[in-house]
Amino acid sequence: MKTNPSIPDSQLLVDWDHTYLWHPFTPMQYWEKEKPLIIQQGKDYRLQDIEGRWYIDGVSSLWVNVHGHGHPKLNWALKAQIKQIAHSTLLGLSHPTAITLAKDLIRIAPEGLKRVFYSDSGATAVEIALKMAFQYWANLGRPQKKSFICLENAYHGDTVGAVSVGGIPLFHQVYRPLLFKTFQAPSPFCYRCSLKMEPSYCQMACLDRLRRLMERHKETMAALILEPLVQGAAGMICHPVGYLKKVREICTRNNILMIADEVAVGFGRTGTMFACEQEKVSPDLLCLGKGLTGGYLPLAATLTTEKIYRAFLGKVEEAKTFFHGHTYTGNPLACAVAIANLELMLKKDFFLKVQKKIAWLNQSLIPFQNLPYVGEVRQKGLMVGIELVKDKKTKEPFPLKERMGHQVIMEARNRGIIVRPLGDVIVLMPPLTISLKGLKHLVQGTYQAIQTVCK
Ligand SMILES: *Cc1c(COP(=O)(O)O)cnc(C)c1O
Repeated sequence: MKTNPSIPDSQLLVDWDHTYLWHPFTPMQYWEKEKPLIIQQGKDYRLQDIEGRWYIDGVSSLWVNVHGHGHPKLNWALKAQIKQIAHSTLLGLSHPTAITLAKDLIRIAPEGLKRVFYSDSGATAVEIALKMAFQYWANLGRPQKKSFICLENAYHGDTVGAVSVGGIPLFHQVYRPLLFKTFQAPSPFCYRCSLKMEPSYCQMACLDRLRRLMERHKETMAALILEPLVQGAAGMICHPVGYLKKVREICTRNNILMIADEVAVGFGRTGTMFACEQEKVSPDLLCLGKGLTGGYLPLAATLTTEKIYRAFLGKVEEAKTFFHGHTYTGNPLACAVAIANLELMLKKDFFLKVQKKIAWLNQSLIPFQNLPYVGEVRQKGLMVGIELVKDKKTKEPFPLKERMGHQVIMEARNRGIIVRPLGDVIVLMPPLTISLKGLKHLVQGTYQAIQTVCK
């Protein structure tokens, strides 16, 4: 059924896609040879393509969706706002939805975070945190504190500053000459420990490396940045319990700011509103994005403490102002839908239901361990990474050119499931409100897809 007469038929769309579009993170040489899946509609946890087939949205439309597609409350919030105004600026003006959302965010944020600075994507939220940390020390008269420390396998977005603090060689290596220098500490990735140790005896030796680096360079270090609990884009690397809390202590002891990038893990993904809560950690700067609008519109925020905010106050001629802003900063429509998103999340049984699904998922992932080419299954909340390896014993990966992850997700697609691989890690990240039936379909279909491809 065609509803919009300006949208042409499917063959034309395929041709135009291949002719005019350049897709993100996509090896286009392969893309041009495959028929693209074109989505025209979404309902709850499902997506429909232009030929009318339905699929499970197994990655929440790239980690953003919370309450499903087309939620009546979120739709209503948008409609109500658009009657008022679609956009007005926060530069020199203000408006009700941006104000209200800021208040709501501060109410739920980890203790000590008191100010909200808006932007429009996770990467910009990170850029802002980096620039705030840098300028904070400059404003305090300590401009020598200007370097950053990040982790191996880190992903903080694709703008140049965010890539500078990134640590995924495949994504980031080519841009090295363009980036500012950072310190890099080992990732607490026990399955592939870069220190070649085992959790049974190492006592988090990686943390010790981090501590030594920070102690040695504390006079010149502005901030540490990390993804709390799970390094998402690197393949759902789940950190050992207690790591985050220890990192916070090291930052505090050495007077180095802590930036928590909760763009992926925030808004319920790990089973609590924010990942930091699970280790009772408050960062100095918190980056939010993705799930903030329930997956409806691009909006991001960087939250910080009153202490950092106050360091930016001063006479005009002191130039302590934070000279940063994006044109669509704090867009009213995006803020309106974000307010409604939070309202739904704060209903008293919301997290109870999520917890039940997390527990069910945990059990249902056990059989994956016995599949021949599954090296490790990682889960935190409703985030799952299933790492495929050529050799389970040696953990040897498949050659890149076999595109095993890609093969598996294409097979899953035949079973009505949309998932995305991160290299050879199959990611499951359904909307938080997915039904148990939907979750079962997702898990079983993925299992069968891996079984079929890895025969
Ligand atoms: C996705 C992601 C980003 C970047 O967000 P964009 O909206 O794609 O710019 C930053 N940090 C983390 C941890 C992410 O997962």
